[in-house]
This record gives sequence, C-alpha cells and structure tokens, in this order.
Amino acid sequence: MSELKIFLGPPGAGKGTQAKKVALEFGLAHISTGDMLRDHISNKTDLGKIAKSVMDEGKLVSDDLVIAMLVERLGSNDCKKGAILDGFPRTLPQAKSLEEIKNKFPVSKVFVFEVDEEELVQRILLRGQTSGRSDDTEESIKVRFEIYSQDTEPLIDFYNQQDKVVKINAVGDIDEIYHNIAKHFN
Ligand code: AMP
Repeated sequence: MSELKIFLGPPGAGKGTQAKKVALEFGLAHISTGDMLRDHISNKTDLGKIAKSVMDEGKLVSDDLVIAMLVERLGSNDCKKGAILDGFPRTLPQAKSLEEIKNKFPVSKVFVFEVDEEELVQRILLRGQTSGRSDDTEESIKVRFEIYSQDTEPLIDFYNQQDKVVKINAVGDIDEIYHNIAKHFN
C-alpha cells in the first residue's frame, strides 16, 4: 500500500515549496499536476497543447485529462513508498477518482494550507517576476481564486468527514511551517 498525502490550499500558499522539502526528507514522490502540465506544454505534447490556453486563463484542465495523467504517474516505481499530491485533487470528481484506487493508494492525510488572500496576491505577483509563469498575472490570479473557492474548497468538507484534515498556518517562516507539517509524517 502506498499512502497518499494531499497538500490542499489556494494558489501561492507555498504547497510546492513544502511538498518538495517533505518529499525529499521522507523519501516520497512529489507529484505536482501543475508541474506535470507545464512539462507537457514545454514538450509541446497533445495534452500540453490543450492545457496551455486553459492554464493561462487560470481555469482548470478537464478532470478526465488530469485524472488519467495522475493515475499513470502513480504507476511509477518512485510512488511505491507513497506520494505527496500537490495540486490534486482540485475538484470533487478528482477526489472521487482517488476513492476508486484507495485499496492501492489510500489518502492518509490532507494538509490544508491557510493564508489570507491579500498576502497570497502579493506572493504570486512577486513569484511572477521570476517564475516566468504565464498564469501569474493579476487577471489569471483572480480567476484561480474564484475557482479555488468554488471547486476546491468544498474538498475540505469532503475530507473533514473522513477525519483526515490537518490545518496548517502557512504564513511565516518556511522552516517553521515545514516542522508543523513534518511532525505528522513518521
Ligand atoms: P499549479 O501549479 O498547481 O498552481 O497549477 C497551475 C495550473 O495548472 C492550474 O491553474 C490549472 O490550470 C492546472 N492544473 C494543475 N493541477 C490541476 C488539477 N488537479 N486539475 C485541473 N487543472 C490543474
């Protein structure tokens, strides 16, 4: 059994930064669906071509495509010890797709990153100056927040009902935040 830990939170909450650190420390795979999609775009794959404009607008790539990409990724050897999902699931159908594979890949915990929106916009705009990400613009950020509260936030309830949610105060010192997350790993 390869346990999955989910990092859930609005854009700019620091999920990627923390997921990288935790994955390295605990020997887990770090799966960022956003990074995977950006790789598809750089490699000009069919999926990349479909995803590009949707991502630039700040909207979500269709569930079917993202679920297929994720499930295929979980088949890799490096996921045998478990994985951190960074940016997946983002919708209820995506969360339900994980229920279907829970015998092999059970979700053990869901870390919910909490940061207020004003701080997030500043962080993302700052990141946009160096990330080269074409979706780190004010217009796209607005859409990404709307989608987060409409499609992704309801997942907190979904996982609360399963008693899996760990809330993380994601403002402040990166190492302190890391320790607050890492103490839930063994
Ligand atoms: P991220 O790097 O996680 O902020 O994701 C960047 C963009 O990739 C998102 O705004 C979406 O357009 C797309 N994306 C990433 N993960 C997903 C997902 N699980 N479902 C749908 N779209 C996604």
